[in-house]
Amino acid sequence: MRASLPALREAVLDAVAVLLPVDCAGCGAADRALCSGCRRALAAGDHRHPLADGTPVHSALLYEAQVRTAILAFKELGRTDIARALSVPLAHTLHRVAARTGPVELVVVPTTRAAWRRRGYDPVPLLLAQARLHPARVLRRVRATGTQKALGTEARSANRAGSLAARGSLMGRRFIAVDDVMTTGATLDEVVRAVTEAGGEVVAGVTLAYTPRLFAPSS
Ligand SMILES: [Zn+2]
Repeated sequence: MRASLPALREAVLDAVAVLLPVDCAGCGAADRALCSGCRRALAAGDHRHPLADGTPVHSALLYEAQVRTAILAFKELGRTDIARALSVPLAHTLHRVAARTGPVELVVVPTTRAAWRRRGYDPVPLLLAQARLHPARVLRRVRATGTQKALGTEARSANRAGSLAARGSLMGRRFIAVDDVMTTGATLDEVVRAVTEAGGEVVAGVTLAYTPRLFAPSS
């Protein structure tokens, strides 16, 4: 009589947990990188919210509860052991959107030098690599978005716009812009602006998660 595959898998996971004790990145339960409940919470949904210019954005998950904790652990606490689990809903959403858009390339926001030094990895490309997807390195940062203290609200917004530029002409190239968490959409707006300025087109955005707006903006 043979052990069933799921039982065998559980046994292997438990053996690994004994060797490398970890807590669930989503809820803190002992001995698993991601417990089965938190794994279930990573099932991809389809949360849609266009950018201001009408570009559709699809997000796999809502950035709340254990999903938020897990993504924060992955991005800020070095929990790259859950990269594979987080890549599944992102890749699922990307494949679903790309099936409708036709041939496209992926574009991501280049990480800052400071963020790279702090983390030692680049979260979004790492998730994509887990799914054997590789973004085109077509954008670069042209300046830091600092030194805003003396600027008013409008000038600050203008200062943020223009922080990215294409490395060369993107004429005739179509992209899906990929990011980890969408909050206001300002980051994706800037990707769309930079790609469009270089002659390319962003046909859609895809993010791993979306921050639900609890309150309508006041202006
Ligand atoms: Zn958990």
